[in-house]
Amino acid sequence: MKLKVPEHILSIKPYVPGKPIEELEREYGISGSIKLASNENPLGPSPMAVKAVEKVLSGLNRYPDGSGRELVIRLSKHLKVSYNNIVLGNGSDEIIEMLTTAFILPGDEVIIPVPSFLMYEISAKSSGAKLLFIPLKSLSIDLDAVAEAITDKTRLIFLCNPNNPTGTVISKKSFDEFIEKVPEHVIVVMDEAYIEFIRDKDCARGMDYIDSNVVTLRTFSKIYGLAGLRIGYGIMSEYIAGILNRIRPPFNASSLAQAGAAAALDDKDFFNKTIRLVHDELDFMYESLDKIGIGFFPTQSNFFLIDVKKSADDVFENMLKIGVIVRSMISYGYPEYIRVSIGLHEENIRFINALEKVLS
Ligand SMILES: *Cc1c(COP(=O)(O)O)cnc(C)c1O
Repeated sequence: MKLKVPEHILSIKPYVPGKPIEELEREYGISGSIKLASNENPLGPSPMAVKAVEKVLSGLNRYPDGSGRELVIRLSKHLKVSYNNIVLGNGSDEIIEMLTTAFILPGDEVIIPVPSFLMYEISAKSSGAKLLFIPLKSLSIDLDAVAEAITDKTRLIFLCNPNNPTGTVISKKSFDEFIEKVPEHVIVVMDEAYIEFIRDKDCARGMDYIDSNVVTLRTFSKIYGLAGLRIGYGIMSEYIAGILNRIRPPFNASSLAQAGAAAALDDKDFFNKTIRLVHDELDFMYESLDKIGIGFFPTQSNFFLIDVKKSADDVFENMLKIGVIVRSMISYGYPEYIRVSIGLHEENIRFINALEKVLS
C-alpha cells in the first residue's frame, strides 16, 4: 500500500543545521578548523554543569523525574515566577513544537517575521498552519505590520528577541504599543534565546507580559554552553502551562539535562565570563572590520551579520577551505551577508584574517 503523507508535511523543507566540524573537515580534507556558525558558547560548557552531570551518570538506569521538580523550583526562584509558570523542554525547540501542537488546527494562522529562526516555520507547518510571513524592516521586526496581519484565525505570533540572524531587539515602548493591539485569542511567543547578551537596556522582556498571553522561551544552549544537553524552558501563564503539560512527553528533560541545567544556574562565574568575552570580542570585531573597511550590522547578541558585497555562498566556501566555518545567509534571503558567531579571541583574529584574505 502506498504511504499517504499529508500535504502540509510534504511542504516542509528540512532544517539544515550547521554541520559538525568533523564532517566538514572530512569533506574538505582539512584539519584544525574553527566553527563560528551556530552561536554556541566558545568557552565550552559551564564547569559546574559538567560536574553535576558526572554525578548523576551512575543513576542512568532510572527514569528522570518526570516533573523536573528540582530544576523548576530553582528556575522559579531565579526568575521570580511561580512553579506553575514554567514548562521544561528538550531544548526550547520542543516548547515551540508543543505550542503549535496544542493551539493549531489545520488552517489556523501563524505570524512569523522573516528572516528569523527556522524552527517556527517547521513546527507551525507540521501542525497544518497557514503561515503569514512579515518581512523585517531595516533588519528589525516590523511590529506594526505584524499587528496588521492579525485576524480571527491567528493563533500564534513568533517574535525572536534579539532576532536570529539579525541581532536586533524590540524596544519596551514598541512592544507596549504592540501588545495593546493583540486580541485575547492570540498567543505571542517571545523567543529570548539570546536575551542574556543584550547591552541595550531598553529591550522588551516577555516575562513582564505573562498575563497578556505572552509565552517567553529561554534556553541553556547558548549562555550556559549546554547545547548538546538539550534543555530549555518556557515561562507562561498557569493556564497555558497546564495546556502544554497535557501534551508534554513526561521524560522530555533527561536526568543529565535536569542536573546540568540546575547547576549551570548557580555558575555565576561562567555566566559572567561568557558575557564579558562576548562583549569584549564584539567590540574587537567591530573595530577590526572598521579598520579594513568591511560593512557589518551591530548586534545585541553573540552573533552578527557582515555585508561581504559578493556571493555569501562563495565567501562561505572559500573561508571553509582555510578552516573558518561561518554561515551563509542566502537561505535567509540575504545573498551577500554572512553570519558569524563570537568565538575566543584567537578564533576571532583568525576569522578577521581569513575574511580579509577571502575578500581581497
Ligand atoms: C539557538 C536558538 C534556540 C535554542 O534552541 P534549543 O532547542 O534550546 O537549543 C532557540 N531559538 C533561537 C532563535 C535560537 O537561535
